[in-house]
Amino acid sequence: MSGLKREGDTVQRLDALRGTTPPRPHDARAIAALAANPGCTRRALMDGAGVDKDAAARHLGFPAPFGQSPFAITRGNVFESLVKADGCAELLRMLRELLGLPIAEVAYHDVENVGAHLRHAHTRALIDRAARDAQDAGTLYDHPLLTLQIAGHTAYLEPDVVAFQLGGRFHIVEIKSFAVIDGQADPAAVAAAARQAAVYVLALRTLLEDLGHDPLKVSHEVVLVCPENFANRPVATLVDVRRQLAVLRRQLTRMTTLDRLLADLPDDLTFDLRPGEDGRPTRPVAELADALHRTTARYAPDCLSTCDLCFFCRDEARQEGASDLLGRQVRDELGGVASVAEALGLADGVRDPAEGQEEIARLLRNAERLRRECLT
Ligand code: SF4
Repeated sequence: MSGLKREGDTVQRLDALRGTTPPRPHDARAIAALAANPGCTRRALMDGAGVDKDAAARHLGFPAPFGQSPFAITRGNVFESLVKADGCAELLRMLRELLGLPIAEVAYHDVENVGAHLRHAHTRALIDRAARDAQDAGTLYDHPLLTLQIAGHTAYLEPDVVAFQLGGRFHIVEIKSFAVIDGQADPAAVAAAARQAAVYVLALRTLLEDLGHDPLKVSHEVVLVCPENFANRPVATLVDVRRQLAVLRRQLTRMTTLDRLLADLPDDLTFDLRPGEDGRPTRPVAELADALHRTTARYAPDCLSTCDLCFFCRDEARQEGASDLLGRQVRDELGGVASVAEALGLADGVRDPAEGQEEIARLLRNAERLRRECLT
C-alpha cells in the first residue's frame, strides 16, 4: 500500500513539475538520447515529467541547434523506400549475405496493414507466433509497433524493420541515410544509430519476456543499413549494441526511481511553461530559467548533439566557469574540482586543497610547473 502511495505521489509530483503543458510522448530518438548523458538530474527530471524541452529551450531564448533539414528528411525517406521496395527485396539480399538468411525461409509481413490502433497487438501476436515456431521460420516484419515503459508512461516505438532469421534469433534492422565511405561512417552518426537501435532491442526483449519467451532471442547485434559511397546502393553491417543497452537499462531504472531525485527538490518547483490559448508559453523567462537553475545539470560538449537544452546548459556552465565545459574526460580527471577557477587556484598554489583534493592539487601543480618550464 505504501509502495502504491509512493508511486502515486511520484506521478503527481512529476505532473506538477510539467504543469499545464500536455506531456510530450517519448520516441526512440528521445529515449536513446537519455543514454547519452545518464548522470544529468535536470534531464532525468524533465524527461520523466514529459516536459517539452524543445519548447522550453526556445522560450528561454536558447533554441537547440539540431533538427533534420527537409532535404535530409526527404533523402532519408527515399533511401528507406528503396531498401524496403518490393517486400524488402533489397534488404533480403543483404540479410542473406550478412546473416545467412536463405530466401526459401523468408515470409514478409507488413504490420501496418491492420491499421494504427491494432498495430501493437498484431506485432505482439506475430512475434509470439514466430518465437514459438520450432520450424525456424525466417520472417521479416515491416512497420512493427513496440512499447517501452518510461517513468510510468508507455512509449510507442517504430523500428524500421525486425528481421527474424534462421536459428531462432531476432535482429533489429536500422535504416539510416548517412553515407558509408570506403567502409567508414561518421562515428557520431553510428553511435547515435546504435543508441536508437538499442532502444528497439530492449523493447523487443521486453515484449518476448512478457510473452514468456527468452528475451535473449533478440540479438545484441543490430543490422545497420546505410548508402555506400554517396550512391544509393545500400550496404549492411552488424553493430554490437551491448554497451548502449547497459547504459539504457541503467538510465531507465533511474527514471523509475525518480522519487529520490524529486525528494531533493523544493516543493514549489515547476517547469510549467504556462501555455496560453494559442499554445505559446507565457511564463516569464527569468522565472523558468530560475526553476531550471535549481536542478543539477551535468553539461558536457556531447549535449550539443543530443539534448534540446544544450545551449541553455552551456551558457550556465560558462557563467559558473564549470570544468564540465572542457569535456567529460577532463572533468573526470579533475574529479571533484568543479570550476576552472578552482583548478587554476590549486595549480598555482593560491588556493589550499580541501579534504580529498590533495592528490589532484599535486598533479595540477606538477602540470603548472611543466607548463612554466616549457614557456621559459
Ligand atoms: S543539455 Fe543540460 S539538461 Fe540536457 S543532458 Fe546536457 S546538462 Fe543535462
